[in-house]
Amino acid sequence: MATSAASVSDAVGEVVGSAFSGLVIVDERCARAARAVKATYRSRLIVGKDTAAYMRYTATPSEPMYLPSILGGAAPSLATCMQDQLADGADFALTPTGRIRDLASLDAAVTQANALTIPGVVLATPVPTRLFTGSERVRAAAILERSRHPVALIVTGQFDPFAEAQVAEGLRVIASSAADVFLHRSDFAAFEALAHGGLGGSIGYLAGLRHTVTGRRPAKTRKEPPDRSPIVLLPEIDSFRHQAVFEPWFRNARPPICSRPGCCGRDLTTLTNKAADHAVANRHNLRAWLPLGAQLTTTPVADRRAWLHAYRQAVENAYADLRRRTRVRAITMDDSQRTWLKLGL
Ligand SMILES: [Zn+2]
Repeated sequence: MATSAASVSDAVGEVVGSAFSGLVIVDERCARAARAVKATYRSRLIVGKDTAAYMRYTATPSEPMYLPSILGGAAPSLATCMQDQLADGADFALTPTGRIRDLASLDAAVTQANALTIPGVVLATPVPTRLFTGSERVRAAAILERSRHPVALIVTGQFDPFAEAQVAEGLRVIASSAADVFLHRSDFAAFEALAHGGLGGSIGYLAGLRHTVTGRRPAKTRKEPPDRSPIVLLPEIDSFRHQAVFEPWFRNARPPICSRPGCCGRDLTTLTNKAADHAVANRHNLRAWLPLGAQLTTTPVADRRAWLHAYRQAVENAYADLRRRTRVRAITMDDSQRTWLKLGL
């Protein structure tokens, strides 16, 4: 359950090693890396490549997939594109679906992928949060149920889409539908999909892969100038935060020192903006959430919702403890975590 960029595939391989099984999705810059990653992970991991066509192409009902012609020749067929990915060493091929704006384009993407007879295809569906709410949700779920292939659901939009209760609820509805869905390019929401009947989820190794802002607009940040400090998963509260945000919390309290076996052992407040510390933070983050993913996946399917709810209650208590310890009352739970918790089991 990790999404990786080519430049960091070695780091991910080193952290994951052969201790975990699961799914790794690498990006388009690693045409040759899929094979290398597979060799590192041996056979326990399933490796796929995401060309992220949705970042630069908008699906239309007539052309839902991004299939550009090469050197002025004919555009490749979707089947050729899928075969190329598999020939490149990937265990499955992810369709180059453009970003989807409407149900007609979603329907066309499902129809085009359904026409493929190649095994090992996963349909990428980069959809806006609007399709998770109201009547569109029901129709979107019905369209996805027509897919003959597993569906990689990618939620596009600024900030944290699951902070909104309707969107969070929509993910649960779609994950528990008859379609084989996994949540791609996500953060802890991946656990939600897994607990509510989905196939699983992928958590981005880098912050930019934990949410998906498509098109020309860059991802917005609430800070001006943008906060460039490393984003660190604080083990105490299982929350990704910028070092510059949490460092002041611990000025009069015992600092958060990583005690994860085999991890960095660092005082996390001392991670700086240097590239080496960003690398430490990324590895630390992966080491911090992998055991949680392992716990959830080894929990019987029928008990996962209860496990996840109890886990979130424990996180809520950890926030209270942290506020007491640091005397910083302004430390609050992530909006989406709170939303999931309020939705209940
Ligand atoms: Zn660590």
